[in-house]
Amino acid sequence: MSKPSPEVYEDGRGMDAHNSVMRDIRGLKEKHYDPHEPTRVWLDEDNTPSGVYDSLTIILNTGGCRWARAGGCTMCGYVAESVEGGTVEHSALMDQIQACLDHEADNADEPADLIKIYTSGSFLDEREVPAETRQAIAETFGDRERIVLESLPDFVDHGKITDFTEQGLDVDIAVGLETATDKIRHDCVNKYFDFSDFEDACATAKEAGAGVKAYLLMKPPFLSEREARDDMLASVRRCADVEGCHTVSMNPCNVQQFTMVNELFREGGYRPPWLWSVADVLEQTADIDAIVISDPVGHGSDRGAHNCGECDDKVQKAIKDFDLRQDPSVFEQVDCDCKRTWELVIDEETSYAMPLAR
Ligand code: SF4
Ligand SMILES: [Zn+2]
Repeated sequence: MSKPSPEVYEDGRGMDAHNSVMRDIRGLKEKHYDPHEPTRVWLDEDNTPSGVYDSLTIILNTGGCRWARAGGCTMCGYVAESVEGGTVEHSALMDQIQACLDHEADNADEPADLIKIYTSGSFLDEREVPAETRQAIAETFGDRERIVLESLPDFVDHGKITDFTEQGLDVDIAVGLETATDKIRHDCVNKYFDFSDFEDACATAKEAGAGVKAYLLMKPPFLSEREARDDMLASVRRCADVEGCHTVSMNPCNVQQFTMVNELFREGGYRPPWLWSVADVLEQTADIDAIVISDPVGHGSDRGAHNCGECDDKVQKAIKDFDLRQDPSVFEQVDCDCKRTWELVIDEETSYAMPLAR
């Protein structure tokens, strides 16, 4: 097999089998999106190394991730939300930023100290966000405290980061590492880079005065519940050991449209992780010297991390409490009969006969 890279576009190169299936699945999408509107924007609060901040989260609608266009990751439905034709020009991207500022002005008492920008790809890839736009965005948010910018490791670069640090902003680069285990990242997630690339990106960010927030994916397809849980236990620790990586956001896989995970789910071959697994990893890694958080999307539903249906909200609330306080005792207060079922699944489920329970 040839060495995978984000430049892979043609058949016959790269992670061909996964990419070819992913291209077929994504070819089914029909929705079209307006390049002048952000994909999503919302207000929240977040735990950062400098404290808990009110935050404005922006999902910019760019041309989409270039790896996704080659086929992309098995669980990622974001590219189905991207704009046709591959690129969005400067003025349209700035219209999106203005729409986000308007949303904030209409819904918040005061401007958020923390801005988080995701693009369903890489904010630092100049094919998605041109240098001119990046610099204009740095100026727009120069009066805030902190900014999070999403990027694959390839595009993490000293000069791009200093556009933001020169504004006096604390900068965090959000990297979708998914797992510290190369084999799982390559074979289950179909993501092309190695852990060593992540370590290099952390070193570059640190040199430029920024920190790194690693995003991990709990339970990509083809892993049993125990394999998924154990991979996260090891991955959280390995990420926290990398200098410059101060936060680990460990998120359970959810079933998104136009993905390989969705095809497996429809055929009965995939169950998102139990919320007990998420709680277990957070509890068991609470001793490490990094912020560890999780934000289970679609919790309690068949397509998101879930338990039995009775206890999902309680466990989700404990996870959200943990995110802000980092206190593992929040999990002592939640229990349910289904925890016994989860324990059985952890002990007995095998990757050739799963899911053992839904
Ligand atoms: S998860 Fe990230 S790298 Fe993978 S296809 Fe989606 S946007 Fe691209
Ligand atoms: Zn339960």
